[in-house]
Amino acid sequence: MLQIYNTLTRKKEIFKPKNSENVKIYYCGPTVYNYAQIGNFRTYIFEDIIIRTLQFLGYKTNTVMNLTDVDDKTIRESQKAKMSLSDFTKKYADIFLTDLEKLWIKKADNIVPVTSLIDEMVSMINVLLKKWFAYISEDGSIYFTIAKSQNYGQLAHLDFSGMKQSVRIDNDEYEKELASDFVLWKAWKESDGENYWEKEFIFWEEKKVLKWRPWWHIECSACNLKYFWPEIDLHMGGIDLIFPHHQNEIAQSEAVTGKKFSRYWVHSWHLMVDGKKMSKSLENFYTLNDIEEKYKNTRKEMLFRALRLLFINGKYRESIDFSFAKLEANINTVEKIDELVKRLAMAEKNNKKKWVRRDFSQELQYFIADYIESLEDDINTPEALSIFFNFISFANKELDTKNISSDEVKSIIDFLKTFNQILGIVDFSFLEENTIPKEIEEKFEARNTAKKEKNFSLADSLRDELLTLWYKIVDSREGTRLEKL
Ligand code: AMP
Ligand code: ZN
Repeated sequence: MLQIYNTLTRKKEIFKPKNSENVKIYYCGPTVYNYAQIGNFRTYIFEDIIIRTLQFLGYKTNTVMNLTDVDDKTIRESQKAKMSLSDFTKKYADIFLTDLEKLWIKKADNIVPVTSLIDEMVSMINVLLKKWFAYISEDGSIYFTIAKSQNYGQLAHLDFSGMKQSVRIDNDEYEKELASDFVLWKAWKESDGENYWEKEFIFWEEKKVLKWRPWWHIECSACNLKYFWPEIDLHMGGIDLIFPHHQNEIAQSEAVTGKKFSRYWVHSWHLMVDGKKMSKSLENFYTLNDIEEKYKNTRKEMLFRALRLLFINGKYRESIDFSFAKLEANINTVEKIDELVKRLAMAEKNNKKKWVRRDFSQELQYFIADYIESLEDDINTPEALSIFFNFISFANKELDTKNISSDEVKSIIDFLKTFNQILGIVDFSFLEENTIPKEIEEKFEARNTAKKEKNFSLADSLRDELLTLWYKIVDSREGTRLEKL
């Protein structure tokens, strides 16, 4: 049974969705005004691991993520770039989606730009106005009244006793000590330019149509209620979102529906650099492009797996320090995994024995059982990885004995695939049929014959020639093979 730590109760709890055939999951997406930094991807990889684990355990998931394509930053940066807000944000949304693919992160079933949710936000706010959960202030913006909200502060564990009273906040990021009424819908300012919506709001039976634009927190509530009304099973995000964003999401959604919004809240900790959160504002961040540029000579696909491995090798409720030395160590580890897959490919091809020993098959089952157990224990990925690496050693040792049958090799490959459904760090392309061009094969054969005949100078020159054609000769216990560089 899966247990996860619920931020709402501050306890590890058994995960019991309302309907295991339709587990409703929401997670906050990026603000699309620039390239995402790799800290963001730590969170998205963690969320990916949770979703893959749930699917592996047999749940049917239904996932939604928003894209914030209107806020102060997107408006400001689109103006600087002299582009329309929609063209500008589409550019970065597309880059973000490509980055997800590079890191093998499953895309949500619905990825929703928030400018497509304006009508939903307006009708939510009208309900809030009607129920007296919201008011129009003298500055023309609409605010949410936290005093009316019964459990305000539960998620973020706010203690209202020592707080400053009743300041209104129209800033996205504020500290817990400043918990106060927050803005839902913002009056237009000149600096917003063309970016506004004219919508009708009803307050005290009076209709107001003004130039306005939405604010951050309401968009996620509207997105959730559009797809999942009235409640969801699991809401995820980085810990920086607990307050005020998620706290405010709960307040708005519950005020509208009168129902508990999300049963479970799971938050992952940050990626750090030299003890500080990696973030755009601290200018201590790297994008995937930066990493690709720095490791130009490493196969990109290997680099992305190494980054994924680096992130899942940390507990999600602990921060991870990023360094290039760490990334390089992970590249080496990924190379070792590749080495095993290549050995398996050779062993499968050259071995005709057909049997599976009882002890061998039992051993494989134990590995998977332990692996599942560690994931079910609050998604303990470092533990799951250590079992995976024990499995890698086991497989290498079995290949060393030469006693392994081709059926057993196939079983190892199947188990590797099972592990990888969640981990996403194994490249199985080495198992695919060799598509080496004929003239390359011929040079390879000629080199092997030259070596057998002890004509080493010819063998070496053929090897060098193959290298210039991007093929490397590798001698291993399983025999000599050609590898594309
Ligand atoms: P943002 O675009 O800043 O709203 O962030 C998008 C997601 O990335 C949120 O879930 C944040 O919590 C998360 N995030 C931002 N910075 C980091 C970091 N350094 N480490 C982990 N997650 C982060
Ligand atoms: Zn959100």
